[in-house]
Amino acid sequence: WRSDYKAWPFFVVAAVSGMSGGILMVSAEADTKQESKEKSVKKRLIILGTGWGGISLLKELDTSQYDVTVVSPRNYFVFTPLLPSVTSGTVDARSITESVRKIARNKRKDIKYFEAECLQINVPTKTLLCRDISAIKVKGKEDFYLDYDYLVIAVGAQPNTFGVQGVKDYCHFLKEIEDAEKIHQSVVDCFETANLPHLSDDERRRLLHFVVIGGGPTGIEFAAELHDLIHEDLVELYPSLHDQVKITVIQGADHILNMFDERISKFAEKKFQRDGVEILTSCFVKGVTENELTMKDKAGQLHSIPYGLALWSTGIGTRPVVANLMEQVGQKNRRVLSTDEWLRVKGCESVYALGDCATIEQRKIMEDIEEIFKLADTDKSGTLSIKEFKDSMEQIKERYPQIDSYLKAKHSNDVLALLEEKLPRGKGSDAELCIEDLKKALCKVDSQLKIFPATAQVAAQQGEYLAKCFNQLEIGEAEEGPLRVRGSGRHRFKPFQYRHLGQFAPLGGEQAAAELPGDWVSIGRSTMWLWYSVYLSKQVSWRTRCMVFFDWSKRLVFGRDSTRM
Ligand code: FAD
Repeated sequence: WRSDYKAWPFFVVAAVSGMSGGILMVSAEADTKQESKEKSVKKRLIILGTGWGGISLLKELDTSQYDVTVVSPRNYFVFTPLLPSVTSGTVDARSITESVRKIARNKRKDIKYFEAECLQINVPTKTLLCRDISAIKVKGKEDFYLDYDYLVIAVGAQPNTFGVQGVKDYCHFLKEIEDAEKIHQSVVDCFETANLPHLSDDERRRLLHFVVIGGGPTGIEFAAELHDLIHEDLVELYPSLHDQVKITVIQGADHILNMFDERISKFAEKKFQRDGVEILTSCFVKGVTENELTMKDKAGQLHSIPYGLALWSTGIGTRPVVANLMEQVGQKNRRVLSTDEWLRVKGCESVYALGDCATIEQRKIMEDIEEIFKLADTDKSGTLSIKEFKDSMEQIKERYPQIDSYLKAKHSNDVLALLEEKLPRGKGSDAELCIEDLKKALCKVDSQLKIFPATAQVAAQQGEYLAKCFNQLEIGEAEEGPLRVRGSGRHRFKPFQYRHLGQFAPLGGEQAAAELPGDWVSIGRSTMWLWYSVYLSKQVSWRTRCMVFFDWSKRLVFGRDSTRM
């Protein structure tokens, strides 16, 4: 080794570099292994829907913990409360939409988005069947499958026609951005056609009769926007048609906005009366044809009402994918998926649902009601004690004082069906009386059972809640010590609790009504300013915030858009 001693530094360098190379290689290999381990360890979380629920979940979710995939036929989020403003041309459609890809990009994590519709959820295999429903597709490759570990269903709902004939073919709906744009085009079309020289007065009056079916917040807001568009912009552009324009609201209940405080619904009715908007309450549309609809009034009389444009806004129905899932998990014949207070779909593992497609059934209240039913069942004497029922209902009301602060007495077929089924029958007038009595009392409990109205506020809060749970899931699972036991199963998370932050009803003419927490009611122009500021602050991005602000300012200076493209 003597002859080679001068070469030792070379050997040392070679050895060190070899070792370090080895170390580097080993560490690189370790990194790759770690990465692939992470990849394989990361659970696949699929979110269906890019509406209020899906997007608020995505925004709050720690996406580094999961392999996140979003599936929705709509590659954008829509700020639905401003959809009625699109129908009147106050706000541009692009101003209230935000790209899902941009929202995902802002998370700076690898989130996959597929523009497709989920057709079927296969619960046992944890697989989704999805379809590309866009205009451009590769023939024979429209359908594909996705596997999930966790699935969040936030697909919302679709308009409900209640099986009334002709509604699908001839009425407008106001659910999507295209609906709002189509309505705007149709309103202007009605004016342009009515302005043609060869039409009779009757034909003109028909074309300029705008009918809104449904006196809930969407229908009323649309009627108010339409009134403003017509009276602030269109009458100036079509002066000869001024006298022939009419707006009618047909409402099944005995008041419009009946889920709001009575003061608001009365104020709205009076304001509409002053504005010349006709309100027909306790009336039901029985059928719709191309130019007229048939309506049954309070007295049961049928009337034919000619119309130029009819908007159907009576409630929401079940999406096919949700109906299919409900059938699989034994929730058939329901309108929405039933979840527990942790938003887990009953009867499915690792499947969550939120927003308009789901409802939480509060076990505790259910149990209490069950107790009352038991009381009826154990009544051996054959006569039902009305007093006992009344007392029990009072007890429930005492136990749940918040019941009153939820939706005002809303009728639930589910609860009533349960009631009719469980109460002993054929026990004479006492039983009937009792059913009536219970029906009234249960209306309030029912609102607690269904708990939440189908609103963006609920969907967004549920999305945030679920994101927090998912963010903590791993920590929660690694935690030592006993799990808290609540409801069905064991949980580390608090159940979802809805915070009602109030609701608005814009009534046109720069006036709005608001129902705020603590039974506060605010009505008038100042409330409209509150509405402007709240809806501006709630925008999903700075881009939409600026665009909406710009549209409102543009309307003040130049008026609304009245073109038809
Ligand atoms: P949505 O927001 O409807 O989102 C559903 C998503 O699922 C969409 O992206 C849809 O494309 C996608 N989807 C549908 N089918 C599938 C499928 N098969 N697979 C995958 N994805 C699917 N609420 C308020 O609180 N305040 C208001 O002022 C208000 N105003 C409203 C005005 C109008 C005109 C309307 C229509 C609604 C209004 N709402 C308001 C109600 C509110 O918009 C809804 O309650 C809310 O959108 C529900 O959120 P969601 O996430 O459940 O569903």
